[in-house]
Amino acid sequence: MILDLFRLDGKTAMVTGANTGLGQGLCIAFAQAGADVIGVARRSMQQTKEQVEQTGRVFQEIIVDLSQKDAVSRIMEACDRLCSCVDILVNNAGIIHREDAKDVSEEDWDKVIQLNERLVFFLTQAMANRYFLPNKSGKVINIASMLSYQGGIRVPAYAASKSAVMGITKALANEWAPFGVNVNAIAPGYMATNNTANLRNDADRSEAILDRIPAGRWGTPEDLMGAGVYLASEASAYVNGFTLAVDGGWLAR
Ligand code: NAD
Repeated sequence: MILDLFRLDGKTAMVTGANTGLGQGLCIAFAQAGADVIGVARRSMQQTKEQVEQTGRVFQEIIVDLSQKDAVSRIMEACDRLCSCVDILVNNAGIIHREDAKDVSEEDWDKVIQLNERLVFFLTQAMANRYFLPNKSGKVINIASMLSYQGGIRVPAYAASKSAVMGITKALANEWAPFGVNVNAIAPGYMATNNTANLRNDADRSEAILDRIPAGRWGTPEDLMGAGVYLASEASAYVNGFTLAVDGGWLAR
């Protein structure tokens, strides 16, 4: 039956940036759909753990600073200890640096690109080589952005990195769809999380953004749950390389 295709029973999902915001919401969604969850973040993810465990599923954590060059190898070592297989990978962790383009330093540029772009590719590559390609099965969900489509204001490194996320999503889908691996992305619109705290505190910018959202409100982590479970499940078996906007209609304007 169709609703059964959305279930994630027996699956293990890994979510980076699982302690807050959209990543936390996706962990809870996957657990509600039946999956065990491995969260990856810099610090303990107690709140996420409690909410996943309330669903009866298992939550395990990998504490690692994803800005470090050895982050991928540390995650893969931890996987050896924690699980026999990862079925779903969500590349969610991301940072934003707001500054006029004329003033952005190389150091700040590199920090954004390292986490939002380079890590997305190399963590996905490691997971694919270890689990997805040998098993001929796997689901990758990259968290893109409206700035995968648009340039944004005062966030050039972020816009570059999120455009790259959409490109990586298509490139990997082309290579791995024949092996039963689905690589897709979700492009959230303007969501009420830490990532947008500065924007929401700026009365003029906040009003301008809200004015342009047809749904008339900021999104929430709950708004991403349906798209997340869909792209993690067999219901999306024939969806490859697509970036799904969950944006209250922002791109339609
Ligand atoms: P958030 O700031 O709450 O989440 C970012 C997550 O990344 C946090 O869990 C943080 O701990 C983690 N992280 C950052 N640096 C890290 C590091 N060095 N090591 C380990 N973890 C690290 O904000 P969010 O809105 O939930 O962002 C999640 C994703 O969604 C990001 O990729 C962001 O770019 C994207 N996004 C957000 C919005 C929005 O409006 N909030 C819109 C589009 C895309």
